[in-house]
Formats: sequence, C-alpha cells, structure tokens
Amino acid sequence: MRSDYSPLAQAVESFLASRPRGARWLEWLAGRQYRLAAFPDRSRPVVVVAHRGHNPARAEQVAHAIEHGWAETPPQCRDAYEEILEQAPGLIVVQVRRKNVCGCLGHRHMMVKEAPFSEPHDAFGDALVGEMDIAFDRVESWLAQPLMDTALDTQFIAGSRRKQFHNQQLRFRLLSILLHETHHMVAPQAPEDVVRERSLTFYREALANYVEIARASLSLTIDRSFSRLGKE
Ligand SMILES: [Zn+2]
Repeated sequence: MRSDYSPLAQAVESFLASRPRGARWLEWLAGRQYRLAAFPDRSRPVVVVAHRGHNPARAEQVAHAIEHGWAETPPQCRDAYEEILEQAPGLIVVQVRRKNVCGCLGHRHMMVKEAPFSEPHDAFGDALVGEMDIAFDRVESWLAQPLMDTALDTQFIAGSRRKQFHNQQLRFRLLSILLHETHHMVAPQAPEDVVRERSLTFYREALANYVEIARASLSLTIDRSFSRLGKE
C-alpha cells in the first residue's frame, strides 16, 4: 500500500478490501482492478486508476506519473494547477484504456460509471467523485509539441538515457492529460483553447526542465550520448 500519506486513500483502500468476496471476484472476472495514487505534496485529490488487471504496466505508469513525475516538474508547473487541484473532486477515477473509438486522448465523464464509486459511500467522507478516461496507447504515440518532441528525441541518441527520456516524457504527457481533464471538471465553461494552452504549457515546461537537468548532470560525466548537443 502506497497511500500512507493520504487518509482518504487509506479509507478507500479499506473500503475496496472490505467488500464481500463475491463482489470482488465478479469484479476480477470483469477485468477491473484499482490502483490508488496520491500526489506526494497534497492529500487530495486521490486518483483511482481503474484498469483491466491483465496489463498492470499501463496503470502503474499513470500512478507513477502522479506519485513521482509530479514532483519532478518545476514549481511553476505545479503552481499553475494549484487552484484547479484545490477545487477538484476529492476522488478522481481514471479509466485506463488502450484506445478510444473516437481517437481522443481522454475525456471527462459526466457521470461516474465505475461501479464501486458510482454511489456515495461513507469511506469517501465529504469527497466528491469525478471520472475520466485516458487512452494510453494514443497518449504514448502523441506528439504533444511536435517540433520540441522531435528535436529532443534526436539529442538522446541511444541506450538507457533515451529509454529514461521516453518514460519521463510519457509520464509528463499522462499528467498533462489528467490535469487537462481535471481542469474541464472544475471549470466546465472554460474554452477548450484555454484549457489546452495550460496543459501544453505544463508539458512543455516540465519536459524542458527535465532535459536541462539531464544535460547539466551529463556534462559533468561527459556522456558521449550527448556529444551532439554542443553549445551553439
Ligand atoms: Zn479539452
């Protein structure tokens, strides 16, 4: 259990575990599993990553983005979402899918459909519940900032650094989608271009910051994979 920092996450974990065996068994058969994740610097919102249990890696990436990726963004990225996260529902169910029929990266849902969360429960306390979906494979192949993504990619030529870079890039994308849809939840009237601009700025600044730090640490160790970076 990773939720020791959030009383709400603990309460929800206990609630999920305390349900009758039969209900949990049916849920397992239906391919539903839940992985709770909380931001390291705040107790709410708690994110319930709902996924089909046979591929937990995608759900883990989403949870990892929240638990670790968030802390690796520069302060201005987190500040830009402070108010939105403050007003967000206390519990956010994220349905992780591979693809969406419509081809979107994610949507917020008008109603909570995920069974254990669709009805109020004492364990949720005063927390409201919101729900969204994220199309994982689409996010993975999405060029959020085509010029920047491609330019950075050529800098990490090969090997483990590139793998690390891609993992981090994916986490920042997942976070930016999660934050984008949370923004829609909190401000349903906000125009799409305003919501989008904020989430793309988040992604751009998080990634630029990561690259800058990677670059600085590598220039100390004179890593050959960075030889093309130069100092123009
Ligand atoms: Zn949108």
